[in-house]
Amino acid sequence: MGAPGQSVKRQRRYLGWNCCGRRGELEFHYPRTVKKTVALLRRPSSLAVAGGTSFIVKPRAEHLVDLTRLELNYIRDKKTEVLIGATTTATNISESQVLGRLASGILCAASSIIADTQLRNVITVGGDIACRYIWANLPPALMVLDARLKIVGSKERVIAIEKFFKSRLQPGEFISEVIVPKKSTKGKGAFIKFSRTKSEYSLIAVAVYAERLGKKTSVVRVAVSGNTPPTRIKAIEVGLQGKVITEELLERTTMKAVTQLQLTESYIFSEDYRRELLGTLLKRGLKKVLMGG
Ligand SMILES: Cc1cc2nc3c(=O)[nH]c(=O)nc-3n(C[C@H](O)[C@H](O)[C@H](O)COP(=O)(O)OP(=O)(O)OC[C@H]3O[C@@H](n4cnc5c(N)ncnc54)[C@H](O)[C@@H]3O)c2cc1C
Repeated sequence: MGAPGQSVKRQRRYLGWNCCGRRGELEFHYPRTVKKTVALLRRPSSLAVAGGTSFIVKPRAEHLVDLTRLELNYIRDKKTEVLIGATTTATNISESQVLGRLASGILCAASSIIADTQLRNVITVGGDIACRYIWANLPPALMVLDARLKIVGSKERVIAIEKFFKSRLQPGEFISEVIVPKKSTKGKGAFIKFSRTKSEYSLIAVAVYAERLGKKTSVVRVAVSGNTPPTRIKAIEVGLQGKVITEELLERTTMKAVTQLQLTESYIFSEDYRRELLGTLLKRGLKKVLMGG
């Protein structure tokens, strides 16, 4: 079966990858050090595996490199940041008291409504980001917290999560850690997912974060996925930042931004319906954070 939200062209590729017969055996590797993992992943025929829930064996894959023995399943509360290891599961994130204190617990909320309990027990934060699916919950929630990713490979580098979605990993590279700066989590956050059934893929996911200074907003960050690949909606952020929020301003700014947004194809709902729905969910999230409603 194809994946919801994907265009017909992409769906065929999805089916092809799932069903195409591979020649030869797949070899599993369980490295215990980052150095060994990088060396294994450098081969063009290698593929990283974390939770294995969206694992699609590419035709040329011969080596599957398991990341779960690297002791990257942790949530560390540091002075200025919270560090989340790449193989930390959605369940661990949703139950974390440390993360529950950041931005109204937006990461816990986003994790707790991914798929179902069994899947959340194995889905990892690194996998949810790296698979780059349009329905992913954690990327938009991490985007509004200005999170960064630690990428290890021949060199170690740290990039903003937004930049990750505009770039590619180099051979040998993988995400080892998510860094959430505490200074960008002091305000309020909200996460809303819309799907046909509770455990199904998000058709739209909306993440909102805001801080206030007196009656005016001082910071507004908004990101969505589902209708588009995970992305910030700067038009709403700029339109609402430094303003006294009224229903009228919120309505006007949101609907203008939604009208201009380029949506990906969907065979489930019409574009008009999805645009309308996205506007409604964005306004709901913004109202919750900015007007307490
Ligand atoms: C029925 C169903 C419904 C779902 N609904 C949702 C939903 O609504 N929202 C949501 O967010 N998710 C949802 N998911 C989960 C999502 O589609 C992916 O399956 C999941 O996020 C992948 O995580 P994983 O740890 O299992 O990664 P894997 O399946 O192990 O890997 C996925 C890809 O990422 C790569 N990878 C994994 N970890 C790393 C890393 N650390 N560095 C670099 N590359 C890496 C792998 O090579 C592979 O290409 C759903 C899944 C199912 C089956």
